Amino acid sequence: MALEAVQGVLDDAVALADVTFVVVDLETTGGSPVECGITEIGAVKFRGGERVGTFETLVNPGVPIPRQITHLTGIDDATVTSAPAIDAVIPSFAEFAHGGVFVAHNARFDFTFLNVALQRLAYEPLEPPPVCTARLARRVVWPDVPNVRLQTLAQYFRTTVRPSHRALPDAEACAEVLHGLLELGGRLGILTLGDLHAAVRARGRPNYGKIRLADALPHSTGVYLFRGRDGRVLYVGKSNDLRARVKSYFYGDPRKKVEDLLAETRSVDGVECASELESLVVEARLIREHEPKYNRRGKTWRRYAYLALDTREAYPRIRVVRDAKRQGVYLGPFPSSQSARLAKEALEEFVPIRRCTNAMRASTRFAPCALADIGRCTAPCDGRITPERYGELVRSLVSSLSTPGGLLAALEARMHTLADAERFEEAALARDRLRALAEALARSRIDGWLVAPSDLILREPDGVTLRLRHGALVRSDAVETPLGSPCPRERADELGALRAWIARNGPTIESTDVPLAEPVDGGSRLNHLLARLRAGTRSS
Ligand code: SF4
Repeated sequence: MALEAVQGVLDDAVALADVTFVVVDLETTGGSPVECGITEIGAVKFRGGERVGTFETLVNPGVPIPRQITHLTGIDDATVTSAPAIDAVIPSFAEFAHGGVFVAHNARFDFTFLNVALQRLAYEPLEPPPVCTARLARRVVWPDVPNVRLQTLAQYFRTTVRPSHRALPDAEACAEVLHGLLELGGRLGILTLGDLHAAVRARGRPNYGKIRLADALPHSTGVYLFRGRDGRVLYVGKSNDLRARVKSYFYGDPRKKVEDLLAETRSVDGVECASELESLVVEARLIREHEPKYNRRGKTWRRYAYLALDTREAYPRIRVVRDAKRQGVYLGPFPSSQSARLAKEALEEFVPIRRCTNAMRASTRFAPCALADIGRCTAPCDGRITPERYGELVRSLVSSLSTPGGLLAALEARMHTLADAERFEEAALARDRLRALAEALARSRIDGWLVAPSDLILREPDGVTLRLRHGALVRSDAVETPLGSPCPRERADELGALRAWIARNGPTIESTDVPLAEPVDGGSRLNHLLARLRAGTRSS
């Protein structure tokens, strides 16, 4: 049973001036906390810069002290002969350290040695994490010092006590170094115990000083912009706590990309937002506007594509196009032309519409291709179908896009037929085509609902209301053009953020000037189909 907790759990938000620090140094017979023993413990306790306690004792390690250790510390076997054993020392040390934050230079060594002894005597171990002055110095004074040895730091801070490889003087020197580091760290925003632990954990060294760039940001929801030389936007992100999120980049994100970003950063701006959704939309807009070097997501819209059907043509065909500026029927945007092509092939499986790229008027005639022979095309090229009949075919296709139940059921049945016949490659292709089509249809159904009203007001679960004008979030400080249908591909990420947020949060509709047509045919079939395709299961 644990006899006593050595150190209580302190809140990360507590100001450093209110923290009790227990600065410790040990002398030992070697480096292994299991095989070697402690020969001396020195510790000083500080609170608000005031020394409130001192602990010093020699310890009989119960094993011979190696000569090189004696040479270093001056402690030999005769020195510790009459000293108490560690078992007798640990209770008083535990009482001394109780309630304080453990500090040491290269703290893991002292921390581990003491914890081994504490646990052997059934005491609670010291509360992690320890504060290491060597690690803290790497964030705060490097590269102003050539190394972070205690001796070097003591010189740098001109401590009154100099390290001498004896426990108490080294603990006192370490405490003076700690106070020097905390004074400098305050200018970098290290003000609370949480800041201190984060700084000690931080891995990125060269840019840590720039953490002060986050000081002007509020602790509120919004979007942050890392800017480089000349104010160029390097990276855009969103957070529910702008200052904390920006600071976290300086706490040692190991990614090379982040280190490069921080090296180039000269300033950080924040845009406060009323809600998470607003921050998602503003983030998407700012990424589109600035195309920041370090954002990958949000810059892929140039790859997006649509399926287009120009119903003014005599014999329309489905095209994969990059923009949706011409008149016609559109589906998309798709995340890539490859995905649009798969959906096109799915539709052509279902409707025997022409696939050739020749320009065709009503009277144009040329030799049919093999698709005519296998019944996959109605072959308007050699007059097998009239323009009127072909028009009906096209109208049925357009109608299937808004009420896709029959279309999807037929394509799914075809996929299963192929799988049952062990034509697995063809079945896999049919699955990919069906999935590309079904996902686009699912997106377009929500987009249509969002984009149609010129005034749609949504209420978030926390009560915040949001106004959309044809799919574009209305903000008080910006005039945003409506999205329209189909959504322009450069703004598809903005609409996608809105769509994903609605799926996650389920807001209620406060008011709309376009009544919803519910239930929409095929909606639940579409959702179930997508769930089956993603899970790789069949309908029962
Ligand atoms: S059958 Fe004629 S219209 Fe149909 S795809 Fe072939 S060439 Fe084009």
